[in-house]
Amino acid sequence: MAEVRFKAVGKTFGQVKAVRDFFLDIADGEFIVLVGPSGCGKSTLLRLAAGLEEISSGEIYIGDRLVNDVHPSARDVAMVFQNYALYPQMTVYQNMSFCLEMRRVSQNQIKDKVRGAARLLGLEHLLERKPRQLSGGQRQRVALGRAIVRNPRVFLFDEPLSNLDAKLRIAMRAELLDLHQRLKTTTIYVTHDQLEAMTMGDRIVVLKDGVMQQADSPQHVYDHPVNMFVAGFIGAPAMNFLDCEIMGEKGEFRASTANAEFKLPRDKAAKAEAYLGRRAVLGLRPEHIDDAAGGRQVEPGSTFKGSVWVVEPVGSEKIVHVRCGEDVIVARLDPYVTCRPGDMTEFRIRSEHLHLFDQESGLTIF
Ligand code: ATP
Repeated sequence: MAEVRFKAVGKTFGQVKAVRDFFLDIADGEFIVLVGPSGCGKSTLLRLAAGLEEISSGEIYIGDRLVNDVHPSARDVAMVFQNYALYPQMTVYQNMSFCLEMRRVSQNQIKDKVRGAARLLGLEHLLERKPRQLSGGQRQRVALGRAIVRNPRVFLFDEPLSNLDAKLRIAMRAELLDLHQRLKTTTIYVTHDQLEAMTMGDRIVVLKDGVMQQADSPQHVYDHPVNMFVAGFIGAPAMNFLDCEIMGEKGEFRASTANAEFKLPRDKAAKAEAYLGRRAVLGLRPEHIDDAAGGRQVEPGSTFKGSVWVVEPVGSEKIVHVRCGEDVIVARLDPYVTCRPGDMTEFRIRSEHLHLFDQESGLTIF
C-alpha cells in the first residue's frame, strides 16, 4: 500500500491542455474517485499515475518515490480498464497468472495467489474457462483478479463498470467496495457517473476542463459545492438554477425570481446582505421541494406556484417538471402525490437547503 501525491501536475497534448496544475495528496488506503464530464482529463490523470503517458510538468509520487521517470512495470500499480483487456486465447487461470509467470514467480506461489484471488472473487469454478465463455460481470471479476494477484501498492480503475448493465453495475459496485474494505489498497477510480462517485469514494475529486474544482467527502461536496458547475454535476436530477435579485433588510433577505420570492435562511443573512440589490443565482435541489398540499404548515416565502408540465413516475418517487413563468423547475416528489400535466400547483421548498451563487463567476455565496 502507498500514498500517492500529485504535485502541480500538468499534461498537454499539442494544443490541448488535458490536465492543469493538479495537486492531490491521496492517503494510504484511501479510495479516491475522479469524476467529471467527458474530456475533463480524468483518464489522463490515471494514465499519468500508471506511467502510460509522460507527464508535461509537475511531479507524481507513489509512496516516497518520485515516479515521473519510472517505467510503468516498475511502479507497482495495477490498472483495470473498462474493456477488461483479457487475453481471449487464455483460460481464466492463465489470464490471472500471466503477469506472475513473467516475473518468474514460482509455480507454487502462483497457484496460491491465483486460487486466493479466485476465492475472494467467487471465480474458483471458472478457472478453466476462456473469457468468451464468461458473462460481463465474470470477465470484469477476472480483470480484477489479475490486478489483485500482483498485490500492487495502488489500484487504478478506469470506468471499470461502464460496460455492465445497470443491475450488474450496482452489484459489482458493492463487490468492489467490499474488496476495498478487505484489501485496503490505495485506489484511484475514474468515472463520469456521479452516483458511482458518490457511493464509492472516501473522497471525490470533481474535474472540469482539466482543472480540479473540488476534492472532499461525497456528502460535503453535495452539501457545500464550491461553484455552480459542481452543484449542477453532483446530484440527480440536477440542481435547479434560477436567476434572482437579492432584496430585504434587517437580517431578513429574500431572493426574488421572475415568478416567486424565497426567504433566505437567517443564518446566511450576512452573506446575502453583501449581495443586496444585486443579481445572483438561486440553487434549489429537486429533493428539497415538496407538494405544498401535503398538510404541513407553509411559511410565507417558501413556496412557488407553477403549472405541471411533465410527470415521470419512477416507482419510488415522482419526478415532476414544473413551468414557473420562463423557468422549468424539477422536483422529486412522493410517488403517491397526484399531479397531472396542466395542473396549477403550489410547491413548498425547504429554505434551509437553498444555495446562492455569484452570477458572473459561478462561485458559491452559500
Ligand atoms: P472520457 O470520460 O470521455 O474518457 P476523460 O475525462 O477521461 O474523458 P481524457 O481522456 O483524460 O478525458 O482527455 C482529456 C482531454 O485530452 C480531451 O480533450 C482529449 O481529447 C484530450 N486527449 C486525451 N488523450 C489524447 C491524446 N493521446 N492526444 C491528443 N489529445 C488527447
